[in-house]
Amino acid sequence: MSKKRCILFLVLAISISFINPASAHSPKVEQALTLLVEGNQRYRQGLNNPDLTAERREALVAGQRPFAVIIGCSDSRVPPEHVFDQGLGDLFVIRLAGNVVDDLAIGSVEYAVAELAVPLVVVLGHTDCGAVKAAVRSTSDDSSLSPGLTAIVRQLEPAMEKVMQETTENGKSIYEDVADANVKEVMERLVLQSAIIEDAVQDGDLAIVGAKHHADGKIIFFP
Ligand SMILES: [Zn+2]
Repeated sequence: MSKKRCILFLVLAISISFINPASAHSPKVEQALTLLVEGNQRYRQGLNNPDLTAERREALVAGQRPFAVIIGCSDSRVPPEHVFDQGLGDLFVIRLAGNVVDDLAIGSVEYAVAELAVPLVVVLGHTDCGAVKAAVRSTSDDSSLSPGLTAIVRQLEPAMEKVMQETTENGKSIYEDVADANVKEVMERLVLQSAIIEDAVQDGDLAIVGAKHHADGKIIFFP
């Protein structure tokens, strides 16, 4: 390669690295995502080392500054602090079966955004979700369901309806499609049902991302 072409190539490479679409998020969000991805890698390698020390606990007496909100399922196999290997004060966690959000859950996210200035909300679904399976197998008209279970099924119904409309006979488990659709549904619901969350997103102070925990422990973030 001639010297001139070599310089041109270098300039091009540098320009491309500056317009990398992966850095569409703010630095704070990128940093939070990196901490979660690295923590999940440690978890999968069995190298968990969350800071649960007395020093950390004492440092947090003055106040908390979590770097992410995690909206997760109550499933005992997917505890956010463990699967992301995070310690005291790191994550603001909201868990309901099926990682659904009602008014109380949305209010909790609003508190984290407005009072604690958390820059990132992760809606975390998972494979083999019992709540999703139960919802697919029943409907909110099912009179055998308790009022509490009916409320959860009702929250999952929009995702089920979407999947029923879109899914063709592809042999793929409908449960996983509903779980994925529900993560997207919850992400949308947060913005539609909360002016606080919507404003924070529009001002660039908050990003909402979806992710799914798989059976091997890997958490894959949605594009
Ligand atoms: Zn679940």
